[in-house]
Amino acid sequence: MKLIFLGPPGAGKGTLAVRAVEIVGCPHISTGAIFREAIAAQSALGLKVKAIIDAGKLVDDDTTIELVKERLAQADAQKGYILDGFPRTIPQAQALAQFSVVEKVVNFDIPDSGVLERLGGRRVCRKCGYNFHTVFNKPKVADVCDHCGGEVYTRDDDRPEAVQKRLEVYRAQTAPLIDFYRQQGILVDIDASPMVDEIVVSFKRVLGL
Ligand code: ADP
Ligand code: ZN
Repeated sequence: MKLIFLGPPGAGKGTLAVRAVEIVGCPHISTGAIFREAIAAQSALGLKVKAIIDAGKLVDDDTTIELVKERLAQADAQKGYILDGFPRTIPQAQALAQFSVVEKVVNFDIPDSGVLERLGGRRVCRKCGYNFHTVFNKPKVADVCDHCGGEVYTRDDDRPEAVQKRLEVYRAQTAPLIDFYRQQGILVDIDASPMVDEIVVSFKRVLGL
């Protein structure tokens, strides 16, 4: 299945994606995770995007579109994919339509208060990218990933100043995609406020799985 996960930062797209991968059997492709890996590896891409991402701004469309185009051309993405964090602008959505036919767009509905609560406590595994939370989902051993033993840290762009910027960017640049895809008749909404097990149930229901 060719799916897009759309929603504000901190809506839980990445958390649901880990579960959805098992349900739909397609790879989870997160542009944010690809950028963070590039930053960790200090590649040319990583050096180019680090300051932009830390400030909560968007990487330019051309760079991002090229990255996704190459990723979707790989063998494991031919049957389907879960795109998380892309598209984030109307030009990105228009470009995507040129190289892939998206089946459904899952819109994560959550108020700003929920976003702030989640991002304020979010901790991420540096190695495997798994998301933890200081209150809702603590690692068993402090600062150590339950899944791979990697170091659990706070993303630079989860600091309060960057979070405000990301919410602004979401409202101005990404939220218009809700209407863009609704008009195409492929958007489905899920309530992203509950805990992940409940969201998994809604996810299956809205997709008829
Ligand atoms: P979140 O969904 O929590 O905001 P992501 O991990 O999806 O975080 O993205 C982190 C950062 O990576 C974004 O704030 C942005 O700077 C950059 N980024 C990710 N995807 C895109 C995209 N499609 N276009 C431009 N920048 C992006
Ligand atoms: Zn890990």
